[in-house]
Amino acid sequence: MPPTKVTAVNAPHLATTFSDQVAAGIRRPSFSERRTRIVATIGPASDSPEVLAALGEAGIDVARVAMAHGSIDDCIARIRRVRAALPSVAIMADLPGPKVRSTSFPEGGVMLEQGALVVVTDGASSPESSARQIGVCLEEGVDHLRVGDHLIVGDGGVTMEVSSIEPRLEATVTCGGKVQGRPGITIPEHPMVADTPTVEDLARIQALRAEGVEAIAASFVRSEEDVYKIRAAIDDPEILLIAKIETREAVEHIDEIVRSADGVMVARGDLGVRLPLEDVPSLQKQIIRAGVRFGRPVITATQMLESMISNNVPTRAEVTDVANAVLDGTSAVMLSAETAVGHDPALVVETMARILKRAELDFDYIRWGSNLGVQEISDDRASTLRITASITAAGWRAALEEDAAAIIACSNSGMTVRSISRFRPSMPIVAVTKTEFRARQLHMSWGVAEVIVHPSEDSYVQTYAAIDHLLSEGLVVPGDVVVVLAGSRDTAVPMTDTVRLMRVQQHR
Ligand code: PEP
Repeated sequence: MPPTKVTAVNAPHLATTFSDQVAAGIRRPSFSERRTRIVATIGPASDSPEVLAALGEAGIDVARVAMAHGSIDDCIARIRRVRAALPSVAIMADLPGPKVRSTSFPEGGVMLEQGALVVVTDGASSPESSARQIGVCLEEGVDHLRVGDHLIVGDGGVTMEVSSIEPRLEATVTCGGKVQGRPGITIPEHPMVADTPTVEDLARIQALRAEGVEAIAASFVRSEEDVYKIRAAIDDPEILLIAKIETREAVEHIDEIVRSADGVMVARGDLGVRLPLEDVPSLQKQIIRAGVRFGRPVITATQMLESMISNNVPTRAEVTDVANAVLDGTSAVMLSAETAVGHDPALVVETMARILKRAELDFDYIRWGSNLGVQEISDDRASTLRITASITAAGWRAALEEDAAAIIACSNSGMTVRSISRFRPSMPIVAVTKTEFRARQLHMSWGVAEVIVHPSEDSYVQTYAAIDHLLSEGLVVPGDVVVVLAGSRDTAVPMTDTVRLMRVQQHR
């Protein structure tokens, strides 16, 4: 069934700037009739204020700053540029974790020819790589490599196999191609030994402290203990911690990881070199489903519109891949090199947005929500999270029964919004929250059409502010039913414990 009410909110206020909204007293940092979110990686091709503004116009919801590239100072400068140019877009800093990389190849890259012999050295002793020698930055050194071990470069386009240890460590190029920068090196025969978070990641987390980023993504998380350690290092419960799922161990512990993190990323690049490539489509479905069951945003990432790094039109296979991620139930899709180093970042985002909107017409909204329970959110019957999960389930059901015009979620922490979002309701979700920070953070959640910032503690006041706002914008009309999810005034612990159906009136 198509999203019945979403097109009704295709309103002229889209042109209103964030500051106009702030000046008007009711701020609406996010509005889109598209339900699936777009995360765009910012890099040299998108750093300028002009391109950032164009990305904002094209509709990015989250800007990702990949901290694997450049110094900490470079990344902090990039975060500040994004914040200045796009004040209503969420920022996700991405920690590289214990990724093994080569040392730098010369500018412009080199060709590794199939069949060529390449000397493999310790990254620490050879700061430069070339077509004849590759430095590998393995924490435990390269001495433990054995004949037959594979070295997979980057996302797998170039591969080598260790062919001799004595008199020197050499690998034969089994699949040739161009290599540039400092590509990741995966050795599938050896499990990752380095700890998460790394010393370098701890320094990055420290530098991020003053930047107010809405989310931090952590690479190579392998267990819930890893998530706890990273969370302890971040030491800020306001920031969403996104666990990147890219190893066999993470897939094996997916439920524990999803439960302990605030969101997950299907990091298909590394996933596809550590596990059989042909497993990636089914792993994507499994990880998305786990994230949604636990009420966590899920980002599907990597090579979604890869050919648009240099082309104006994506391949049919890429278009189908993006659409299938929507049908799998992803909350967001991510662009990497397409927007970081591609030839036209804004065009890629516009193209992505078009594909998403079309795919959403085919999403089975009713069946999706019907299959969700509450026990994954919490198996503790006394938990406030479980009460929120039950209330949002009831709210979703009531919204369907009454063909509600919108679901209003009063949510200070964002939990209630994420909990209703997991049902993928066909009508707009309108969130009311107290801070701009939280409003931006909700840009990671599927289907949140509007976020209204209202300073009141009182959900009753927030609800009427939301209805007044929706009326004034023509998003609801008198007579429409809206479903309101909110907390009562008299609970000892704040929690969302009421679902209310209200018929909108012109004058209260
Ligand atoms: C991935 O591996 O798909 C991914 C998103 O991680 P990164 O780009 O940081 O290597």
